[in-house]
Amino acid sequence: MPDPKFAKPWHGIPREEIHWNPTINEAVCIGCGTCVTGCGRLVYRFDFQRMKAVVYDPLNCLIACKTCANTCPTNAISFPPLETVWSRLADPPVHHHVEDELLSRKDQLMLNDFPPEEDRKHLVVREIRKISPRNMVVFLRPANDGDCTCDFIPGQYMWLFVPGKPWLPRAYSIASAPKPDGTLELVFRRVEGGRFTTWAFEQMKEGDEITAVGPMGEFSLKSPKDKPLLFVARGTGFAPIKAILEKDLEENPERDAILYWGVTDTDDFFDLDLLEQWVRTKPNFRVVLAARNVSPGFTPPEGIDFQQGTCYGALEKSDLDIRDRDAYVAGPGKTVKNILAVLDKKGVPKERRFIDSYGG
Ligand SMILES: Cc1cc2nc3c(=O)[nH]c(=O)nc-3n(C[C@H](O)[C@H](O)[C@H](O)COP(=O)(O)OP(=O)(O)OC[C@H]3O[C@@H](n4cnc5c(N)ncnc54)[C@H](O)[C@@H]3O)c2cc1C
Ligand code: SF4
Ligand code: SF4
Repeated sequence: MPDPKFAKPWHGIPREEIHWNPTINEAVCIGCGTCVTGCGRLVYRFDFQRMKAVVYDPLNCLIACKTCANTCPTNAISFPPLETVWSRLADPPVHHHVEDELLSRKDQLMLNDFPPEEDRKHLVVREIRKISPRNMVVFLRPANDGDCTCDFIPGQYMWLFVPGKPWLPRAYSIASAPKPDGTLELVFRRVEGGRFTTWAFEQMKEGDEITAVGPMGEFSLKSPKDKPLLFVARGTGFAPIKAILEKDLEENPERDAILYWGVTDTDDFFDLDLLEQWVRTKPNFRVVLAARNVSPGFTPPEGIDFQQGTCYGALEKSDLDIRDRDAYVAGPGKTVKNILAVLDKKGVPKERRFIDSYGG
């Protein structure tokens, strides 16, 4: 019988809905007993007749634990792939269960509290541009002089709190270079069931005040002025890259730079007019856009290449020699992995890659 102390719901999901428990390859098990005595959750029993460990209460097993497999001297114990667990964690309700528990057990789990009032900024929504059902560009201005994010390093991001809610802040890259009046451009991609973006897409209006913390983050331009660059962005990963380009192309208009930017639907592109202007006015700046789905009537701006597919697919297909370029990569974790695999194939060394990965 599973022990209710151990076989309890995991971040709100009934334990029996998650396939996670050890399997023993009996042919390889030498009956040392390490897994049986080592598991603190009584998952195993020992068969003294056959000198074998037996999985007896699989639901007692702690999700994502692999201690017994790691300590088995003959590698007789296996588990399902960890993706089984990660895919459940990617569900917003599961993520929210974790967030709510963190907040409700704050007294017990807290090391430091949220940043104090003096470290917070109050920003006012100046303008909202809905560019597609899933994406919006938002301009924020400081509510008061003391709230100005006038000085930051392009590539950095802010934490934004949902007004009136106790939730953790969400990270958003600044999509513009520093402005004297402290205006920040941000791009929000809607996450179905996401707490911040549901508020932003359904309730946020011009004039609303958002509390923020930042700027922060290490992603920034690290290359000397004469270094040729490659930028590869997926979706809103273009936001920090746009901030970097905006400042660099202003200060260094001759820069040799190539941008590959991929999205799901062509509707998701933003600031294409700015890219067109840069391509027209900066002699060594080139752009390749990619999208999996092409909306009827979409035509890429003049001077900009377009390919149906992914940014990393377009880069892989190109015969461009990128070995001498510093590479800047930004976007969700899964795509970043695919982009890095192409950089491997194309010979861009690891020490010349700069990465902004959003997890996921
Ligand atoms: C440094 C940084 C910069 C970012 N910049 C941008 C940006 O410019 N524009 C933009 O649209 N998004 C950006 N993101 C991603 C954004 O912070 C998340 O998508 C955010 O959680 C959405 O908030 P939400 O409350 O709507 O969704 P949540 O209620 O937080 O739910 C999001 C769902 O996605 C998963 N999730 C949570 N955090 C992440 C994450 N970081 N990456 C992938 N999945 C996650 C959760 O498991 C959950 O299921 C950035 C993330 C980081 C770390
Ligand atoms: S993975 Fe951990 S909890 Fe599960 S059986 Fe092994 S030691 Fe016990
Ligand atoms: S630790 Fe490995 S070898 Fe030892 S009893 Fe368990 S499964 Fe068998």
